[in-house]
Amino acid sequence: MTTAHYIDGRWVEGQGNDCIVVHNPADGRPFAELLAASTVQVDQAVATARRALPSWARVSPGTRAAYLRGFAEQLGQRRDALIALQMRNNGKPRHEAEIDLDDAIATFAYYAELAEQLPAQNRDVPLAVPGFTARTRLEPVGVVGLIVPWNFPLVTSAWKLAPALAAGCTVVLKPSEVTPLIEQAYGQIADTLGLPAGVLNIVNGKAETGAALSNHNGLDKLSFTGSNNVGSQVMRSASTLCRPVTLELGGKSAIVVFDDCDPDQAVEWIVAGITWNAGQMCSATSRLLVQDGIADALLPRLQVALEKLRVGSPLTEDVDMGPLTSQAQWLKVASYFATAREEGLQCLTGGKALDRDGWFVNPTLYADVPKDSRLWSEEIFGPVLCARRFASEAEAIAEANDSRFGLVATVCSADLERAERVADALEVGHVWINSVQAVFVETSWGGTKGSGIGRELGPWGLAGYQSVKHVTRCLG
Ligand code: NAD
Repeated sequence: MTTAHYIDGRWVEGQGNDCIVVHNPADGRPFAELLAASTVQVDQAVATARRALPSWARVSPGTRAAYLRGFAEQLGQRRDALIALQMRNNGKPRHEAEIDLDDAIATFAYYAELAEQLPAQNRDVPLAVPGFTARTRLEPVGVVGLIVPWNFPLVTSAWKLAPALAAGCTVVLKPSEVTPLIEQAYGQIADTLGLPAGVLNIVNGKAETGAALSNHNGLDKLSFTGSNNVGSQVMRSASTLCRPVTLELGGKSAIVVFDDCDPDQAVEWIVAGITWNAGQMCSATSRLLVQDGIADALLPRLQVALEKLRVGSPLTEDVDMGPLTSQAQWLKVASYFATAREEGLQCLTGGKALDRDGWFVNPTLYADVPKDSRLWSEEIFGPVLCARRFASEAEAIAEANDSRFGLVATVCSADLERAERVADALEVGHVWINSVQAVFVETSWGGTKGSGIGRELGPWGLAGYQSVKHVTRCLG
């Protein structure tokens, strides 16, 4: 691929130093190459977004909504190609790739509706003091940089693009170098819809391109999803430049299973929480807390369920779980298997890579993992589950909250009052009760503690791209 960057409404060749090689993780073979955008091209993308801002900010909410509905419709028209590309580049099983696409479509449709409601957000503010009037006006925050990872490329970008465009912001999106092809669809759709040039720009590249964007002094805000390591660099740039930042970072989330659960039902929720997307989810519930009375019934069932999963290439086999998306991720997960052996952890199943080409690992379960194990506290980002037992509700809450992260949690209990009480006590951004990780566009997404700053989705996602202005008038 030569023209992989979308700047000022045109597809252009990369002029950067890095060559990006795109792989099929199911066999480890490359299938595309592109040159990264240079720092100068990042400058051009930011400059064109700045030029496009005043007129896009003035476009009527109805027109913006029509563009967003166009994105939803056009994503649907590209359905087969986008599903195939996610399977080929991410290694997602077909049903997961379908759900990602549907999520992206729903996100654009939802923010189209919120765009239409923008005028109602501006309102008069009653004052206690006579002699003055006051009103609010919600304005776009301006030109925003969007930096995203590779695990849910269509979805994560949709969660940023749709509310940003709805609010009237112009954007520069930098997809991950691991999956740089999928978000090209957003540029192609902008072309098809005749979105004004400069409103949406896409620059591909590795860390150098990402840093050129996050350090750019022409942005009004940066929204980043990715690792804590890079997130803290992005936050440093934001602090130097004194500008807002949204961070969606890592997790080490807990799933708490009480004695009163049906063990077979609990196994379904546990397996989904650690093997969806081969465990490469910020929200993976990778710490299993299981109450003493059910542990002996649950753990053997869980082991059997993990061993039954069909792991293989989504392109050629009917699978439940595909490969890890990159070789780097595969090596990282393998390094945790080595650590587990060094620490003498009790491995009930998995703990090794598959003996075949491609970046596959077995779904893995470690039991009775000590609290000071690295596997208990660090984000692995693979299908690796660590289990510990607990006696009381208070102990479960304390253990679940004993983490530097705070993204999500799942509570499984037949006692709904207790489940709600525990949900309220957990220090996280989103809790599921007796459920798989269903994410709805109307609800919020984001974490507490080391899992980030700010919220995406719902009205909170839109608010992240808006600035509140008050106009106060003296009547005297
Ligand atoms: P990463 O931090 O390595 O990369 C994320 C993006 O940042 C990529 O586009 C990358 O090119 C870019 N980047 C790299 N170095 C940069 C720099 N110095 N300056 C600016 N940009 C730079 O993360 P990853 O490996 O792609 O993704 C995995 C991580 O993302 C995990 O920690 C996961 O938990 C997190 N994640 C969080 C959420 C959430 O919603 N909280 C969602 C998905 C993934």
